[in-house]
Amino acid sequence: MTLVFDGYPQKYEIEALCRTFFPYRKMQFVYEYHGSVEDDMVLYLRLKPVASGLRFLVVVVDPTTQRAAHITRLERELPRKEIDRQFCLLLFPLLQEVTGIRPKWGILTGIRPVKLIHQYRKEGKTDPEIIALMQRDFLVLPEKATLAMATADHEIKVIESSHSDSFSLYVSIPFCPGRCSYCSFVSQSVEHMAKKIPDYLALLCRELDEIGRLAAGLRLRLETVYIGGGTPTTLSAEQLGRLLGQIERSFDLSHLREYTVEAGRPDTITAEKLRAIYDAGVGRISINPQTFADSVLQVIGRRHSAQDVFDAFALARSVGFSCINMDLIAGLPTDTLESFSHTLDAALELSPENITVHTLTLKRSSTLYQNDRNQFAGGEGDTADMLSLSQQRLIESGYRPYYMYRQKNTLESLENVGYAKAGYEGLYNVFIMDETHSIFAAGAAATTKLVAPNGKIERIFNFKYPDEYQRRFDEILSRKGEIEAFYEAHLPYSVRLQDR
Ligand code: SF4
Repeated sequence: MTLVFDGYPQKYEIEALCRTFFPYRKMQFVYEYHGSVEDDMVLYLRLKPVASGLRFLVVVVDPTTQRAAHITRLERELPRKEIDRQFCLLLFPLLQEVTGIRPKWGILTGIRPVKLIHQYRKEGKTDPEIIALMQRDFLVLPEKATLAMATADHEIKVIESSHSDSFSLYVSIPFCPGRCSYCSFVSQSVEHMAKKIPDYLALLCRELDEIGRLAAGLRLRLETVYIGGGTPTTLSAEQLGRLLGQIERSFDLSHLREYTVEAGRPDTITAEKLRAIYDAGVGRISINPQTFADSVLQVIGRRHSAQDVFDAFALARSVGFSCINMDLIAGLPTDTLESFSHTLDAALELSPENITVHTLTLKRSSTLYQNDRNQFAGGEGDTADMLSLSQQRLIESGYRPYYMYRQKNTLESLENVGYAKAGYEGLYNVFIMDETHSIFAAGAAATTKLVAPNGKIERIFNFKYPDEYQRRFDEILSRKGEIEAFYEAHLPYSVRLQDR
């Protein structure tokens, strides 16, 4: 499809809205319109100053028909955001008519819908006013506005509980026991990488040591540690013990409020590994079934059964873990509303402290996208209903939404929501999403995100692949200097370098 911009060269928001309806469609953009464009679908957007103000025109042309909408706004000038919003308001019903899809988030395209709620609340708006504004100005359905509001209520408590000179640590273990069909992560299959893990681990420990030294020098308090990937439990119990021992030696853990290891796939979990993790003081793990339907697990290339998840969960409880997260995915290939409902039943029966419900997003480099994307061409079936069902069932069962984000290229821009039992909210998830404080990150594909009190954010990227991480490790270490430079540049800060 082609999007033609006549008199308005900003495509970002409009493209994002179009991707809500056509997440996997190839799009091209034309900024100099000469009267005709050939394509199976053309969206023409024109902004023109007229005597009475600004005239917006949107035309959608597909092979069988043409639809158009227009409006004249009385203002002679409008901020860019408002122009985008006006175009999206005109375009939305036309695309709804073309596709038969009614995205529940309306024209709200950002990654964090909850941000809007926080903003409205700062402006002193009441909850009913916020719901009405989200409906009127962004066409958000009440169901989603209410979910965002409930999420904001719980999220804000976590944000406000964070200490101003705190940080979190992320450690990347980019290895997995084979690749899930929907995954685009750079994780390396452990069969190929087994020999490389010891060298990787040795460098990772050096990087952690350097980060620990910097954090101590800056007098920052470590609030949360998150070991993710990949699947960290791909490491042996001995390797896990070594990694966790290094973290203990390199960092002051006396202010730590949360320590998570993503155990991820049940086929990597053993009693020995769980004990090594538990004995090191880790309080939270993630065991991720994604679905409890064996047939769906097979389709997505996971080499474990639903029973393996039950067994791993029982094992984790017996070792002593009292905070367990489970990730589920709505919209997996061949999953139905009925089988997803069974997945919810199974998860609720286990009663983990956190349940995170993701929406399937097809990443271009995933095997699912490469081989089977056509089955998603007409939409992802019951996905929106699966999310509504999870919202209803989990809230009824005492779980509360506490963080939420959306990803690009998800059909209808549907959301991912973290639910928790009261008092078990995953702090790291909120801190990284809200950019509450800096996240220092170690390992291949890890990104350090530096957050200053004035809102300034800088990122430092580690190399993506373990091989490159190892080859260019000196560069990674030398980039750590940017951390000190950032904190120096963003004084005044409660932790001043000269106070050291
Ligand atoms: S376990 Fe996670 S990171 Fe590993 S292949 Fe599957 S989806 Fe990707």
